[in-house]
Amino acid sequence: MKSYNLSIDEILEKLNTNVGGLTDDEANLRMNKYGQNILISERKKSNVSKFFLQFKDLMIIILILSAIVSFVLSYINKESYIDSIIIIAIVIINGVIGFIQEMKADSAIESLKKLQVHNVKVKRSNVIKIINANDIVVGDIILLEAGDTVPADARIIWQASLKVDESSLTGESNPIEKGVEKLDVDVSLADRNNMIFSGTSVVYGKCTAVVTSTGMNTELGIIAKSINNNLEETTPLQKKIDSISKFLSLVIFIIIVIMFLVGLIEGMEIKQVIMLSISLAVAAIPEGLPAVITITLSLGVSVLAKKKAIVRKISSVETLGCTEIICSDKTGTITQNKMKIMEVYCDDKLFKSEDKIDNELFINMLALNNDVSENDGFYIGDPTEVAIYEYCIEQGLDIQEVRNTYKRIDEVPFDSIRKMMSTINQKDDNIQMITKGSFDSIIDKCTHIIVDGKLKKITNDKKRELKNIEVEESNKAYRVLAYAYRNLDLIFKQEKDIEKDLIFIGMVGMIDPPRDNVRESIEMCKKAHIKPIMITGDSLNTASAIAKEIGILENDNEAIIGSELDKYTEKEMKEIVKKYSVYARVSPMNKLDIVNAWKANNKVVSMTGDGVNDAPALKTANIGVGMGITGTEVSKEVSDIILADDSFTTIVDAVREGRRIFDNIRNVLVYLITGNIAEVLVVFIGMLCGVEIFLPIQLLYINLITDSVPAISLAFEKEANDVMDRDVRKKENSFFTPFIISKITVSSILKTCAILLVYFISFRLYDIKAATSMAFLCLTLTEMIFAFSCKNIKKSVINKNIFKNHFLNNSMLILLLIQFLLFFTPIKVIFDITDLTILQVGLCIIFTLFIFIVDEFLKKTLRSKFRD
Ligand code: ATP
Repeated sequence: MKSYNLSIDEILEKLNTNVGGLTDDEANLRMNKYGQNILISERKKSNVSKFFLQFKDLMIIILILSAIVSFVLSYINKESYIDSIIIIAIVIINGVIGFIQEMKADSAIESLKKLQVHNVKVKRSNVIKIINANDIVVGDIILLEAGDTVPADARIIWQASLKVDESSLTGESNPIEKGVEKLDVDVSLADRNNMIFSGTSVVYGKCTAVVTSTGMNTELGIIAKSINNNLEETTPLQKKIDSISKFLSLVIFIIIVIMFLVGLIEGMEIKQVIMLSISLAVAAIPEGLPAVITITLSLGVSVLAKKKAIVRKISSVETLGCTEIICSDKTGTITQNKMKIMEVYCDDKLFKSEDKIDNELFINMLALNNDVSENDGFYIGDPTEVAIYEYCIEQGLDIQEVRNTYKRIDEVPFDSIRKMMSTINQKDDNIQMITKGSFDSIIDKCTHIIVDGKLKKITNDKKRELKNIEVEESNKAYRVLAYAYRNLDLIFKQEKDIEKDLIFIGMVGMIDPPRDNVRESIEMCKKAHIKPIMITGDSLNTASAIAKEIGILENDNEAIIGSELDKYTEKEMKEIVKKYSVYARVSPMNKLDIVNAWKANNKVVSMTGDGVNDAPALKTANIGVGMGITGTEVSKEVSDIILADDSFTTIVDAVREGRRIFDNIRNVLVYLITGNIAEVLVVFIGMLCGVEIFLPIQLLYINLITDSVPAISLAFEKEANDVMDRDVRKKENSFFTPFIISKITVSSILKTCAILLVYFISFRLYDIKAATSMAFLCLTLTEMIFAFSCKNIKKSVINKNIFKNHFLNNSMLILLLIQFLLFFTPIKVIFDITDLTILQVGLCIIFTLFIFIVDEFLKKTLRSKFRD
């Protein structure tokens, strides 16, 4: 018998459970026996294979081949094997560095995956708890509502207006209505109406279900659909950098072929020409660039996680820095989502929250039309609901007793389009529907009002009077909920729309103060040329009052309600959005229209969303921002970034971080390419002059060791002081702006000049050995000092912050130590370095410092002359 062929009692019995749920002990036993509720993803690469994969790079293979060639030639000529040994040693060291980098990037991503927990409400020992979906076992009773992702396959035992989106499993795009009745025949997956399946999502209503299978035994597990590995995607930036480095490789390859021929024509020894060409290829081709970019991005991802922004798609890290419009929800993102009832209106009177209210009917209704449950003194439920629950307690109400007396027999769950919810409660033969929701949605449905126990017809004047009270309350930034009710007869289920002919009973006004720091973040956005926008389901007055307080709204005419937007065409919307910064009473469709309109204006938009209906807007936005605390699973799954603390300030911090990461990537790019060009130029000019300025071994050492370490350290660079003071970078802008091209050109020419000058001066003053040694020293020193210069390619780094990047300082100290070993210990023989005097070393230092200072001074000129 399949689960869907069994009645509710039969399935509970078969799974050895009951409607109150399993005990924790039983659940643990089942977990130990059957394992966690997880899909086993692709097998991971072992560390050994990760290490060996470092050598699959074409450049490395060429190097290994050249080591073999050098070995054979040395054997034939009976020379020492030192060249081959060094090449192999450098290849291994490079492999180890690459391996460590990859491990670091992997662990950043792994720890991020761990942060993306999926929580679910379960009933265990009759108490509702929130647990990690991985810990669900067969027999668990799960409680789901709109926006939840179904964590395992389960048989529905209760439902209210339940609709499930099963497109991920069956391809059916329309939501499916579900029921509880057992099915008598075998049916296909799509027709199992009393079942819900892992990976699908609840789009409407609520249900309680008993878990029938978990993990790989679910339908999702069976079709072995692997989990989405977005974190391992190649981002557009990485693709761009890949193609940049491929292009550079091609150019350099051509240069090398020319040099090879020049070398042969000039009568250089064949082994020497081969070695020089190969090492030049390794030195000049920026093969480390893509790896450094990956590291920079993944380090950025971990920094963002520390700042409470959890990245789901690495590509969004790049887009973040270009954000021009931040559309944010109000409740919970801009405000604290800690609601507290401040005022209550009933019987024609406005009460302060501390006043005792003498209206049992109304207070009972507050407790009955409320979804909060208690667990160990904690309230589980939406903050709006919790505020009402707490108020009932403060009023001295025994909530459990009221709820036991007036049993809930049915309900119409809350949704943000109707903006209300109803419960149907019964005591003996009396059935009553209690409805609460936004003032406008309730008042339109009211035909009567009850004042001091007397039922009266509600006149238009009365409605106007009530509206004025609601406006006054909202102007104090309170969220106002209206309450009404209706007596039903036993056949109420036959009515199609029961939320009508209501009796108005009262209102509650609750405060939700803005979060700390929101004001500063809004100010920062404005300085950074980013437009902050508030989008909310709340009323225009409430939204405007808060928006004014925090600085989003400067003028009342910059606020509009969602229904107004419906009047405009797509083309008009493109202009309309420029006028407004507050949108109230919006529908999810409005959110989508706003995103599309800004995108039509060619702006990079980030949009927050928490509800199940927000998914289209989140997907369409350049950066969809989900809410870690209040967000539904559905909204989180389509987001690019999730805010662990739901806070607006975190979005702004993330944008700032995005700008920092982008700056650092550019700095690294300039650093590596400048070094490569200088090396090629020096070798090329040297060849033309008939001299070998750098030995192959020296070039290999520079490129694989001296360059890659500082490049990675630059990823740790803190943001520039003006990072949030400048205009937004356009996403489509090329990497190689006129400024960057001028910077690379000037710096590489400066370096080349310094090295050539050092070489030719020392060649004149001393001998050729001293000249090559000094040129090598000068190259390593310029590379090291230039890493400091690339902390900020636009502004001089000669200030008190020059030694603020500890990673860079430490790597420089290590490199200096290695440098010392190379030049002043017997290792120097390997690199063919001669003894240098203090004067010679001093000469190299002076030249290096000189070009560093010139380079710093030129930054300002380049900045003013060339567009970035
Ligand atoms: P924001 O979009 O700023 O985050 P929100 O998500 O709280 O706001 P919704 O949850 O869509 O917006 O709520 C819209 C309106 O529905 C509220 O302004 C309120 O009038 C009403 N409302 C909110 N919560 C409830 C509830 N639990 N019961 C009845 N009505 C509610």
